[in-house]
Amino acid sequence: MTLINRVKRLFSAKDNADDIRLQIIPRDGHNISRNNISEPALKVLYRLRKAGYGGYLVGGGVRDNLLGLAPKDFDVSTDATPEQVNALFRNSRLIGRRFKLVHVVFGREVIEVATFRAPPSDEHSDKVSSQGEQGMILRDNVYGTKDEDAMRRDFTINALYYNIDDFSVHSYAGGWDDMEAKRIRLIGDPETRYREDPVRMLRAIRFAAKLGFTIEPATADPIKEMAPLLQQIPPARLFEEALKLILAGNALETLRLLREYRLFEPLFPATEQCMKQDDFAVSLIENTMANTDARIQAGKSVTPYFFLASLLWPQLLRVQKEMEEQGMAPHPAMQKAADRVLGQQVKATAIPKRFSIPMREIWEMQLRLPKTRSRRVAELTQHPRFRAAYDFLLLRDQSGEEGLTELCDFWTKLQEEYPPAPRPPRNEFKNNDGDKSDGARRRRPRRRRS
Ligand code: ATP
Ligand code: MG
Repeated sequence: MTLINRVKRLFSAKDNADDIRLQIIPRDGHNISRNNISEPALKVLYRLRKAGYGGYLVGGGVRDNLLGLAPKDFDVSTDATPEQVNALFRNSRLIGRRFKLVHVVFGREVIEVATFRAPPSDEHSDKVSSQGEQGMILRDNVYGTKDEDAMRRDFTINALYYNIDDFSVHSYAGGWDDMEAKRIRLIGDPETRYREDPVRMLRAIRFAAKLGFTIEPATADPIKEMAPLLQQIPPARLFEEALKLILAGNALETLRLLREYRLFEPLFPATEQCMKQDDFAVSLIENTMANTDARIQAGKSVTPYFFLASLLWPQLLRVQKEMEEQGMAPHPAMQKAADRVLGQQVKATAIPKRFSIPMREIWEMQLRLPKTRSRRVAELTQHPRFRAAYDFLLLRDQSGEEGLTELCDFWTKLQEEYPPAPRPPRNEFKNNDGDKSDGARRRRPRRRRS
């Protein structure tokens, strides 16, 4: 290690030591009850303890519980290595390379068990920990103590540990006070932490919108300038993050914050351009987000391809118009435009085929719905994508696209006469967690053509 690095480390170690501020809130000082922790999470915690390891609930499972919200999932932290955890549970599997951990599977519920990590450092060989040129953490498998683990978590409100041994909550770096003050604060130096993992900028926005917290100035200030770092993140990871942002139940507020902090552009570059230039795009995207929130609030299913189709619609219209001006007929122009728009989009956030195919179907149906004089008009209501396409038509009308109101009325009335066929249950989209709910891995039995 060079002298300068050694000095730097000494200073940062001192900063961290000052910042640890472990505070233990005893069982009767907080409102977390075991009734609000899932059975599988408790099983994992107790089994770890019985085997002589430490077992802590951490992250959203503690944070959301303290706020009286239902946690999305339960994450467990322990001093047992991934291999030791794996040996303890038959229903577990080792996963991850960048960040090795164990998934313990109980039916549909997966408990993520992570071993305490030490902060990244240049003392360890590249095999276990590595950082890219710009300070991005590429691998993070150096194990450490619970105190060290707390310091490498993103926000103070996420560095709260529920101890299964005595049911106390361990707060670090002022996490407990920040919960009280409804404050999102990064642990450590914000710029360093964003450089290590730029996705933390998106996470700050997600938690702020979801919890109604404010991002404290030192955490908020560097974001606008550092937002372009998101371009270094693999598009597949960004897509997962984008889904989480939109499906967290506060998409409209999330959109506002993302745009304010210039984080929307790296996620959806063409959409941001359209929104900058045209009011219809703003109104369409805002209505889409508001509808998504309303559906989640009402406990209805949300299909990612629907809001994705809407996010890219303004750009699709532009490119399609360009194609038609070059003399193409509407259908091929739409197909070509879809190719181009999706081709550009996947460079930023990789939309998987299982979503882009139905997105194209919704778009293509927008050309078929105006053909109300067709003899086969009633048949269209039976199309598997009819309902989504019709809802999308209403959304376009509601958002100010011209000349659609009569068409909407036509299809509304027609459906009263020819109700669409009942849809098969689509549990795969019921869950709000986009990345685990798309059902892509589940195969349907193939039907024979009659
Ligand atoms: P939710 O599950 O509601 O999205 P969460 O806080 O539990 O919120 P997870 O993504 O499940 O978020 O991660 C669990 C915990 O792991 C976080 O609370 C945080 O302590 C830590 N963590 C997750 N992602 C990062 C990251 N990019 N940098 C640092 N710590 C992280
Ligand atoms: Mg979680």
